[in-house]
Amino acid sequence: MKTTDVLIIGAGIAGATAALQLAQNPQRRIILITRSPDPYESNTRWAQGGIVHRGPDDSAQLLVKDILAAGAGASLPDAARVLAEEGPNFLEEILLQQVSVEFDHDSGGALQYGQEAAHSARRILHVGDGTGYAIIKALIDAVRRQSNIEMLTNATAVDLITYPHHSPDPLDTYQPVACHGAYVFDGAGRAIHRTLAAVTILANGGLGRIYRNTTNPPGARGDGLAMAHRAGAPIINAEYVQFHPTALAAPGAEGFLISEAVRGEGGVLLTPDGNPFMEKYSPQWKDLAPRDVVARAIHSEMEAHGYSYVLLDIASHMPADALRSRFPNIYAECLRVGIDITREPIPVIPAAHYFCGGVQVDLDGRSSIHNLYAIGEVSCTGLHGANRLASTSLLEGLVWGRRAAAHIEARFQHLPPQTLVPETAPAWDESGLTQNSDPTLIQGDMQTIQNIMWHYAGLVRSGYRLSRAIRELRHMQNEIETFYRSAKLSDGLIGLRNAVEVALLVTQAARHNRQSRGCHFRTDSVNIGDRLI
Ligand SMILES: Cc1cc2nc3c(=O)[nH]c(=O)nc-3n(C[C@H](O)[C@H](O)[C@H](O)COP(=O)(O)OP(=O)(O)OC[C@H]3O[C@@H](n4cnc5c(N)ncnc54)[C@H](O)[C@@H]3O)c2cc1C
Repeated sequence: MKTTDVLIIGAGIAGATAALQLAQNPQRRIILITRSPDPYESNTRWAQGGIVHRGPDDSAQLLVKDILAAGAGASLPDAARVLAEEGPNFLEEILLQQVSVEFDHDSGGALQYGQEAAHSARRILHVGDGTGYAIIKALIDAVRRQSNIEMLTNATAVDLITYPHHSPDPLDTYQPVACHGAYVFDGAGRAIHRTLAAVTILANGGLGRIYRNTTNPPGARGDGLAMAHRAGAPIINAEYVQFHPTALAAPGAEGFLISEAVRGEGGVLLTPDGNPFMEKYSPQWKDLAPRDVVARAIHSEMEAHGYSYVLLDIASHMPADALRSRFPNIYAECLRVGIDITREPIPVIPAAHYFCGGVQVDLDGRSSIHNLYAIGEVSCTGLHGANRLASTSLLEGLVWGRRAAAHIEARFQHLPPQTLVPETAPAWDESGLTQNSDPTLIQGDMQTIQNIMWHYAGLVRSGYRLSRAIRELRHMQNEIETFYRSAKLSDGLIGLRNAVEVALLVTQAARHNRQSRGCHFRTDSVNIGDRLI
């Protein structure tokens, strides 16, 4: 059993930022865990396009306006203002000064600002097309230099420890739900440890992996959402899953993201026979329309004409040298699978990319459960509403990592952490588990969930498809839960159990919300008046 002041579950930009901020108080003890054996692995690691800052001819008000427009009327203006007003300063303080990320500069040494879809100013900082890796490497390397942060890799949180659920005292039944840490599966030693904490922060990212086509790495299976939901925290806006319009459609590199910045630099979408089509769907923004509009336009072209992909042409719009130096990773990955993007267009399809919903939190990242915070993609402050504006989520992780840490530290000044940590919690009981977790069964079930979600709860939904998905997912959940109760734990089994739970959260929310908005699109959409009947 371990005891700490703050347990942070997830080591992407949100978790690492919170850890670094808390560690500034040398008294503070922090445990930061990640399920991956590789400390840098996360959605953050794969982010390409960049992170929002404040460009020339730009202002906080302009960014708020763009966020609210992309959010399709469902973004919380206060959350957008927090991001727009505090974000650029935190970026400078943490990423430029504290951990020294080397963003791209022009020849005169000034920061280079990129343009992305639905942004009305050039304001995106980038490091080639490997921005996420540059950021997470700098943050994690700084985390490792802090003696008061214990970073554990290959450590998967299984469930939150909550009272009254895990309390030895029956009178706790009458108290509000409070979180006291988590059960953590140690993948190397194959054992489950209790980690008790005064405060727990969920920072374990999104759920793209519950879809067949996704840009997300294997860890994005909604673990934090499922844990919070089991503990009783509301999950909101779960129907708003954002699909990226352009993932590479080439064998051996499925899901590899072709950044929006490619269209920002002039890339144009074409049908396989070479005709541009975005003007038809968005005369104002064309190829730089919000991503839900572009993704559905591609889907519609593919369905109407039976295409298995569309093309993205950047070769005709950017000199080869500039292309290679602006997009070195995209260039190399495409070349690896036989596509030279300086000479030919790139085959692309839409793919699940970002979860706009999450654990409901306030503007300091506090959930409805005492001592439980949620930050980054797992959380929902209301910032993204029904559709996220490109390149705001890295900044969101930074801002709410910083804000949650400041809020926790201020609370500890009145309520010292040692007063909040319980003396014990029941040990994990593995007695009676007879079966070994079966990787083939786990993989098969995961693929079934991904197919159901792609076909019935994907880019274009209907009440009938969603009801069908719910019936099939409920059946699977029963089977998976039965297996979970009899099999020894593994990271894959933990993920499968969570994936089916969050798949149900998404489909139920999508069926409940009969109004198309942002990235939630229903063929049987009703208008608001009908919905009130
Ligand atoms: C391909 C791609 C490109 C993107 N490009 C951009 C971009 O250009 N700009 C932008 O702003 N956003 C971009 N995004 C979105 C952005 O990267 C993410 O929204 C953001 O990085 C999320 O950060 P996070 O800290 O919340 O979560 P993550 O970075 O996903 O970190 C989650 C962490 O939780 C850990 N974890 C998960 N489950 C468990 C568990 N049960 N126990 C312990 N640890 C666990 C993971 O191992 C990981 O360490 C992109 C996303 C992808 C996939």
